[in-house]
Amino acid sequence: MGLLEINLRLIMANPRGFCAGVYMAIDVVDQLLDILEGEPIYVFHEIVHNKHVVNRFIDRGVTFVEQVEDVPKGAIIVFSAHGVSPAVRQAADERGLTSIDATCPLVTKVHAEAIRYARRGWQILLVGHEHHQEVIGTRGEAPDSIQVVDSVESIARLNIDDPTKLIYLTQTTLSMDDANKIIDALKKTFPDINSPPSDDICYATTNRQHAVRALAPECDLVLVVGSGNSSNSVRLTEIAQASGTRAVLVDDCQELSPAMLKGVETVLVTAGASAPEDLVQSLILRLVEDHGACIEQHDIFHESVEFGLPGTLKSFMRSRGVDPEGRRITMDDLASTNRFLDGHGIPYQVHDLTVGASD
Ligand code: SF4
Repeated sequence: MGLLEINLRLIMANPRGFCAGVYMAIDVVDQLLDILEGEPIYVFHEIVHNKHVVNRFIDRGVTFVEQVEDVPKGAIIVFSAHGVSPAVRQAADERGLTSIDATCPLVTKVHAEAIRYARRGWQILLVGHEHHQEVIGTRGEAPDSIQVVDSVESIARLNIDDPTKLIYLTQTTLSMDDANKIIDALKKTFPDINSPPSDDICYATTNRQHAVRALAPECDLVLVVGSGNSSNSVRLTEIAQASGTRAVLVDDCQELSPAMLKGVETVLVTAGASAPEDLVQSLILRLVEDHGACIEQHDIFHESVEFGLPGTLKSFMRSRGVDPEGRRITMDDLASTNRFLDGHGIPYQVHDLTVGASD
């Protein structure tokens, strides 16, 4: 262990990191790599928005594409966790591709809502970031019925035929605070607008934001492990900053600098839903070894949400003589961090501050 310059209090936010949808999407590609033994695998868009996850798959021979036309005819294509529009599915079919759908079921739920309300002849206001992959996919379900609302200011530019046949839906990974500001403004402008049948911002986004909101104010710095194109990771950084605490988004511990920790007595570590836990573990080890960090784990939400293998993958497995029943998605990354800390002889305290659970 190096020279200890700072006696740092390190709070680890629980929950953090991988959500059920990300576990599932990564597992789909893992399972295919296992089954296909060298046969090419193409993934439409980054399977999840994390550069380490993507680079690790590239190292294992997976090819990522942004256009179906870049996939050879007859090959296997995986749709990422963010979902795709029907036009992409159709293009894949026309090319004779075998499509495996790793879309998160909570994104699929928003697609289903969009289809249902568009069929009723309603207009749909989709609150989200126009160029995000998930919004592109959802909008593609009913492009003539959906308008994207990305700010309070953009409400003035909407074209509304009948304000009584109007519903808003949201991207799953928005900041709850930002989304609520837009939704409040929509309700003020269109008092008859309908709300979605259930919240579209997903449990994982909500819980990670709750944890940061609860813990950031007692810290001098918040380190969010995640990539710059990860919507929920960026939102965690913004939420910490909005609470008055400096926050930095880092892809990994290589981005940590002494300047970042100058004057810091308490640091909160969290991770976006697409950030692998081993990157969090490396960051913690660095903070312990270089800065004498003492670790506290603060549990805010308990999560036990799990998704099964997608139907398209199960069918594909059967077509290759593989029984899907024996295969499960493994989800124990926070427990793996306890084993990691124990294995390195790093002590830690657990503070149970649980305010809720997502099952
Ligand atoms: S962040 Fe939410 S919507 Fe996105 S993959 Fe995870 S659970 Fe699904």
